[in-house]
Amino acid sequence: MKRRRLVWQLYPTYLVLILLVILAVSWFVLTELRGFHYRQTTSDLQSRAELVEQQLFGRFDEGNRSWLNRQVNSLGKRSGTRITLVLKDGRVLADSEEDPLQMDNHGQRPEILEAFAGRPGVSTRFSNTLGQTLMYVAIPVYDDGRLIGTVRTAMPLSDIDRTFQVIYWKLFGGGLVIALLMAPICWWLSRRISRPLEEMTVGAQRFSRGELGVPLKEAGSEESSRLAAAMNKMAVELSERIAREVEQRSEIETVLGCMVEGIVAVDNDEQVIRLNFAAADLFGVSTKIGSGRPLQEVIRQSELQRFVSRALGQQGPLEEELVMHGPQQRYLHAQATPLTGKSKERIGVLVVLHDLTRLRRLESVRRDFVANVSHELKTPITAIRGAVETLLDDEELNPVSSRFLEIIFKQSERLNALVEDLLDLSRIEQGQGWEMRGVRLLSVLESARNACESLLLEHEIDLKIFCPEQLQARVNPPLLEQAIVNLLTNAIKYSEMQSRVVIEVAQLDDKLAIRVQDFGCGIAQEHLDRLFERFYRVDQARSRSLGGTGLGLAIVKHVAQAHRGDVRVTSIPGEGSTFTVLLPFNRTGEVS
Ligand code: ADP
Repeated sequence: MKRRRLVWQLYPTYLVLILLVILAVSWFVLTELRGFHYRQTTSDLQSRAELVEQQLFGRFDEGNRSWLNRQVNSLGKRSGTRITLVLKDGRVLADSEEDPLQMDNHGQRPEILEAFAGRPGVSTRFSNTLGQTLMYVAIPVYDDGRLIGTVRTAMPLSDIDRTFQVIYWKLFGGGLVIALLMAPICWWLSRRISRPLEEMTVGAQRFSRGELGVPLKEAGSEESSRLAAAMNKMAVELSERIAREVEQRSEIETVLGCMVEGIVAVDNDEQVIRLNFAAADLFGVSTKIGSGRPLQEVIRQSELQRFVSRALGQQGPLEEELVMHGPQQRYLHAQATPLTGKSKERIGVLVVLHDLTRLRRLESVRRDFVANVSHELKTPITAIRGAVETLLDDEELNPVSSRFLEIIFKQSERLNALVEDLLDLSRIEQGQGWEMRGVRLLSVLESARNACESLLLEHEIDLKIFCPEQLQARVNPPLLEQAIVNLLTNAIKYSEMQSRVVIEVAQLDDKLAIRVQDFGCGIAQEHLDRLFERFYRVDQARSRSLGGTGLGLAIVKHVAQAHRGDVRVTSIPGEGSTFTVLLPFNRTGEVS
């Protein structure tokens, strides 16, 4: 609906009110005046009738008709009044303006009936005889206390009406003049009320545009000046608050801008809330474009989008390593934490990104170096072993030389095992995208057992395998077998002779757990955290004497990671250890 300005609501209202007041007052005055005039005329006519009655006293009968007619004619002319004498039976005895004999019976005229009843009668009506409205007043005429007729006086009202017509027009004109005179005053009054409001509206619009420096004029009525004062106070507080917010914002901006980590805040609809310089730099976008636009549009990296969708789909934090494709491949460590609003509801996620590209490159250089060195060492070691073996075959060898040659052979064997393990490790580390296929898990476990058969026999270990016969798992069989062999070798090596080892497979919610449990020497708690590091050994001497390289568990860990899984250990010194390989598993029955 279109709203009218206040001045256009007030001004016409004032004008209409003034006109109404003028009309009401005029109507009241005129009605009173007319009533007064009528009353005056009535009493005047009654007085004249009484005078006529005095004049004609004692001669009021038919016998004096012609005298009476002359009398009423002359009295009527002189007083400008119509005079009629009516007998008790209603017949007209004399009339100042008409021939009484021609006039019909007046016995039923209301004023005459009143007069016959003994009271002065008054009536106003249109006279057919004279063709105009007249006021009639009739008074009773008595002779010796006996009613003998009435004297009626009448006067036309048209004079009064004409006078009133003139007064009406004068009043109407006067009213119009007053209304015209009042119009500018009304306009001035209306503007006086509406102007402060209009000024305040303009001021409030200025405030809404952020121009809070120019205060409103505190003028006009008490109410409007109080309103202006309150709005000025509000503007001052608002500008202080804005200044504080801007300061805080620039602090946050500086902190975010200086951060090496990329920060991306995304709302529940996957629209970008914030993006810091590091993140913008990482993805080659501008920090300005971010806000309010879908993540897919701002950062075209499918891995990051999938990661954000997953983080939004769950309650807690999420951590993952992402590979960003582009002209230059980048490795990122992404951490997502839920963003919560004031009422603790989740409004999105905050993603912190660490660039691991340099680290990964260094790791790759290191891996390549280790792989190359191991590879280069393999040939001389094989040559040494071959030569020593040949020398040892010599039957004429003296015992001292034979002892030294055996030491060389044993150490070359150790070196060979070390080089083999190092090569395995770099093979697993480098081998991205291992081919996974569905296999019966039990067959993998049994191959591992077969690989350790001689060791089992040598240590007289009783090995039990508990695994559902048909359980299928999507794995890389040689890799998984190698991990199980490593765990099984350790379980045998670090157990007493004739001990027991158990391999058990359990299906957890979304994981498959392969447990290798022994009842050997166990591992003290303080070693458990570092156990899967390369070359970490609990007891160096024992490990070496058992032919260990210190790389077995590192290999197990990398195999688990190659399957997107993990490895855990629990152990009680003196009672035994349990190593658990956890592989992701979906309920369709396959390791995913
Ligand atoms: P190593 O070749 O020395 O066995 P690993 O990486 O396989 O190297 O194991 C690292 C260390 O963890 C070992 O030196 C050993 O002290 C300890 N360890 C591994 N498995 C067991 C086990 N089943 N019981 C006790 N200690 C173990």
